[in-house]
Amino acid sequence: MLVVMRNDATDEDIAAVVSAIEKIGHKAETIPGKNRSVVGIVGNDGSVDGAPFEGMEGVKEVVPITSPFKLVSREWNPTDTLVRVSDDVVFGGNAIQIIAGPCSVESEEQIMETARAVSAAGATVLRGGAYKPRSSPYSFQGLGVEGLKLLAQAREETGLKIISEAIDPESVDEVAEYADIIQIGSRNMHNFSLLKKAGRSRVPIMLKRGMASTITELLLSAEYLLAEGNNQVILCERGVRGFDSTTRNVFDLAAIPVIKRLSHLPVVADPSHGTGVRDLVRPMSRAAIAAGADGVMIEVHPNPSAALSDGAQSLYVSDLNSLVGEMKQVAAAIEREIAPQVVETGRT
Ligand code: PEP
Ligand code: MN
Repeated sequence: MLVVMRNDATDEDIAAVVSAIEKIGHKAETIPGKNRSVVGIVGNDGSVDGAPFEGMEGVKEVVPITSPFKLVSREWNPTDTLVRVSDDVVFGGNAIQIIAGPCSVESEEQIMETARAVSAAGATVLRGGAYKPRSSPYSFQGLGVEGLKLLAQAREETGLKIISEAIDPESVDEVAEYADIIQIGSRNMHNFSLLKKAGRSRVPIMLKRGMASTITELLLSAEYLLAEGNNQVILCERGVRGFDSTTRNVFDLAAIPVIKRLSHLPVVADPSHGTGVRDLVRPMSRAAIAAGADGVMIEVHPNPSAALSDGAQSLYVSDLNSLVGEMKQVAAAIEREIAPQVVETGRT
């Protein structure tokens, strides 16, 4: 429930509403607005009777929140949240960010060559898994902290921001120490202890949709992050399981505008995992931008056939340049732009 204050409401009026909410055992969160403040009730599971608030001094109206999630909903916050990775790299504004890099960090040569290429092509964020949540325990599990250090070295040289995955609560602090964005992967979207731990960190988080999860479930998982105090959250559509093995997943393009209607959080599309097929990444990257994505994450590798994970869906590093050119044209058609390359070096 939201208690919307009148534009002439005083600080005392707002404080009285907050204390009335606390008196009935709930938490109040004040959202200051340009014209009027809103006081939201958090921590309640069922509905709260709004009638007692309607008669209070300075209150304009009481609006029930109809969605099962609150803090992530547009009802709670109608304006788009900007996720500020740095002054130059912001998700959720007019500029669309390109995240690119290998599925896994494999070696210094591999990550440095990829970083230089994706930076030259116009990406602003370098991806690379150091901890890999593999379906099989016999598959490459990642280089761990060595992989994070290599990513940091690539950031140092290129100025690219870096994103890497935390696979359990124990790895959150370590990933947060090196990366600019913590990724929570599809297999972990319902790992609530990981979500709670990541929500307590102050590093931006990209939460990927579970491969068998509804949009509502994705938004409820994001609610865990915001409920712990981290509102710097990017959501990622990466496809869901279907019945047709022509593609690895069913890339749910419609999820992009749906999430943007339901939530104020930025949305990134991942056509690499969404399709699993190199040739489909190009058309689906263009489509994701047309659908309103605030960023696109693309797997690229200097030698995909030798990749230790996801080679079949990885672009050759040399493919990215022309794809970014096409994405610029699509972005221009909807009056957006692809974010300019980051020129400064080091972490901000
Ligand atoms: C990844 O981005 O490296 C990854 C493992 O993706 P997902 O969690 O979507 O499968
Ligand atoms: Mn991958």
